Amino acid sequence: MTQVIAAIHWLCYKKHMKLTGYRRTTQILFIFFIFLMPVLNIFRYDTDTHDLIIFCNAWSLGLAPGFSADHSSLGAFHIAMRFILKAILPWLLFLSLFPLLGFLTGRFFCGWFCPEGALFEYADFLTLKLLGRRNLFNKKPNDPVLPLHNRLRYGIIAVLSMIVIPLLNGVALTGYLVAPKTIWNQIVTWNFTFGVKAGIIGVSLYMIITAVFVRHVLCRFVCAAGLMQMLFGWISPVSIRLGMDTARISACTDCKGCDRACFMNVTPRKNKRDISCVNCGTCVEACNEELGMGKGLFHLGFGQGCTLPRENCRNVVKGESTLSA
Ligand code: SF4
Ligand code: SF4
Repeated sequence: MTQVIAAIHWLCYKKHMKLTGYRRTTQILFIFFIFLMPVLNIFRYDTDTHDLIIFCNAWSLGLAPGFSADHSSLGAFHIAMRFILKAILPWLLFLSLFPLLGFLTGRFFCGWFCPEGALFEYADFLTLKLLGRRNLFNKKPNDPVLPLHNRLRYGIIAVLSMIVIPLLNGVALTGYLVAPKTIWNQIVTWNFTFGVKAGIIGVSLYMIITAVFVRHVLCRFVCAAGLMQMLFGWISPVSIRLGMDTARISACTDCKGCDRACFMNVTPRKNKRDISCVNCGTCVEACNEELGMGKGLFHLGFGQGCTLPRENCRNVVKGESTLSA
């Protein structure tokens, strides 16, 4: 029950946060999708049969039994082509997904879909409620200021979350390697094979360590999918970007709401392309809250970030003393 309350608070901890509401919806739907993929046989590897299962079908190289007996050049060519067409090409196609996503949307996936990103935001939220800062170790200048109350309740929620969420993820993600039906039977009979135990414990430990100690540092410096999106989003002239209406910069009250809203430690008013920005739109909402709905200085859009021509934009930003505050 306490976890349900925390989840509801996390979902709508500020009023009028439409973008955040949509974002929580996409994040939760994607978590369900990741959990259900092995259960519905959409994608999983079966270590028992050594089959890769894609959309309920076993994906094989299509080599006939006894193929290795054919030592002719034609036989070798046939095997090589099978590897290229059925293993290397599909893998390259899959890998190209993240650069393509980055080119078109920047790090939008990180902010709107990534289950780990959602978990880290939830961990930030609980740490804020418990310690008054996002980070476990030290307070940063852009930490939101929140009244500390109900700490016992949030302490219980944090402990329960640290047990339930990693275990749930451990069970769900082990399903990518062991048939979910087998895992379920082992849970019901409480009789686990070494592989299932190792999968659940390994994933759980990874989740606890990253959610408690590492969080967005992992998104910024370690995650390969994030780095690919970051790189291709950075060079792309068309990707989704945070834009700033620099022509109206004088309307800024220097409330620092945008800085405090950013869990990726970006300073949105610097109006620079920041490779850590995940296009979440939280700063857009923070500024709308300060200046009035639709009157905020930020927006998310495709292409260049600034609404002025590039040169003007640079000059305005250079000459704007409040931005360095
Ligand atoms: S700068 Fe704004 S859009 Fe980018 S990550 Fe920070 S809050 Fe989200
Ligand atoms: S939220 Fe808007 S008004 Fe407040 S500091 Fe940021 S840009 Fe300025």
